[in-house]
Amino acid sequence: MIPEKMKAAIFEKYGDPDVLRYTDISVPKPQRGEALVKVHAVGLNGYDLMARAGRYKPNKGKFPHVLGGDFGGELVALGPETDCDFPIGTRVTSWWILPCRRCEQCMAGHHNRCARDYRYLGAHEHGAYAQYVKLPADHLIQLPSNVSYETAAAFPNAFGTAWHMLIDRGRLQAGETVLVNSASSGVSMAAIQICKLAGAYVYTSSSADWKLQKAKELGADETINYNETDFVDEIMKRTNKRGVDVVVEHVGGDFLDKSIRCLTRGGRLITVGGTKSYDCNIAVNYIFHKELQIIGSNSATKHDLEVMMPLLDSGKLKTVVDRVFPLQEAAEAHRYLESAKQFGKVLLRVDH
Ligand SMILES: [Zn+2]
Repeated sequence: MIPEKMKAAIFEKYGDPDVLRYTDISVPKPQRGEALVKVHAVGLNGYDLMARAGRYKPNKGKFPHVLGGDFGGELVALGPETDCDFPIGTRVTSWWILPCRRCEQCMAGHHNRCARDYRYLGAHEHGAYAQYVKLPADHLIQLPSNVSYETAAAFPNAFGTAWHMLIDRGRLQAGETVLVNSASSGVSMAAIQICKLAGAYVYTSSSADWKLQKAKELGADETINYNETDFVDEIMKRTNKRGVDVVVEHVGGDFLDKSIRCLTRGGRLITVGGTKSYDCNIAVNYIFHKELQIIGSNSATKHDLEVMMPLLDSGKLKTVVDRVFPLQEAAEAHRYLESAKQFGKVLLRVDH
């Protein structure tokens, strides 16, 4: 039986973590083409913090809003006349992008570049900080038997983004050298593992030795503490002035130009964001003189997530969960994520 009401962590105005409130709201009703999922665990992402703070207007500014794009749960209902590849009761996660499906980019299979009405689950539509979430039925991905709800909730954004940037966009090759900046972010932890699976040699940087030790446990070959040393000098020293083939960058600000200076001739810089700043000064002489490529990468396709499922099932890729809070403590979880003390994903457990 699906109840009429459910528990959810909502907010009704933009602001600090205190705006999140644990309360009762109506269970969403799946429409044609949609599925309803009973949520057991949900993962926090950086864009949750941005949406809550009002850095962009989720759900077109309509309140209350429910965050949460990454989850593990079970399929419990389908809308009328809705096809689904799995039966009711299947354990699932999903792809968080809600593309228009009609623009030229969507028609070419590049849904992550959707040029019209591009939305995220949990940002622009109600997400999974709740006992139930509804979403397009064809976004669901079945969980293999060894993948827990918590693993599922820690997986889509971090691993999807990392796979798309390294494999689809970066065309990473075995034997290449890669610098992964800011090792403790969800995307970087996934990137380190994907680089090793692809046969690359990985340098990674972070602000603290304890984070670098954890990055080594995930497979990083060499680590650099950028608070103690200049990472450009360090990369050049360790590569005998050659530089690396690929840099994975999502910090922005002065990190972008420094990352470019770490590249060897013909190298690729892949940028997936700017957590520090979107404003970057670039020394253009490095780019033309060394024939560098700067490659943008945005989110992931559903296919990116699906190809990793067997790797997650067999343990060749591992999610890293730092801490799990109950849904009631969503505000506390946001404060914890904002403090940047974590290594790995912060999750919410959803009880029923
Ligand atoms: Zn589109």
